[in-house]
Amino acid sequence: MRRRTFRIVRHILTVRCVDHLHLKIYQITVQKARFDPVIAALLHQFIKYANKFALNTQGAGLCFITSKDVKPYREWNIEGSFNTHLNAHYQGQMPFDISHFSGYKIRNVDRDKHVKDTSGITYVFSEKPLPELASLLTLPAYLSDNYCSLCRVGPFLAYEDKSKHFAAKKHLQMIKLEQDWQQWLTAFYKSS
Ligand SMILES: [Zn+2]
Repeated sequence: MRRRTFRIVRHILTVRCVDHLHLKIYQITVQKARFDPVIAALLHQFIKYANKFALNTQGAGLCFITSKDVKPYREWNIEGSFNTHLNAHYQGQMPFDISHFSGYKIRNVDRDKHVKDTSGITYVFSEKPLPELASLLTLPAYLSDNYCSLCRVGPFLAYEDKSKHFAAKKHLQMIKLEQDWQQWLTAFYKSS
């Protein structure tokens, strides 16, 4: 197992790409807890370039992004649109179990010692169908119809509930963040 650590400021998330020969773990910590298109850009390019350069084309092509399952990190919409323009699809998710990664430490930029791992969710992306992982992965209900997947709210019991939510300040903030991210994507693919 090879491991590299990029420390920026605080532990928030871990990304991994896996092929059938090597397990590579990259721990990336980011400064801002609030969503920023830079965070989405970093993870988008992780999936993009892991598939282009790092993953064995004969392997399962797995990219894992693990993030704390608490606000505001759970509002980043990792499972929603981070993979826009990529062939890697969101395949589902599972609870992060650190006991599967012997010797792996979640680190904080201020100290080298292991920091407490609060509950995390691992979001799984791959360009290939993964029937062998189907029993391990779940698709959250908020990705179904009649929910707001951005805010993870629902199911809406009546049209009025839905329209009230779509007009709410919190939802409009989430829409604005998503628009900022889509703007970054448009500019990135226009220039590349
Ligand atoms: Zn919403």
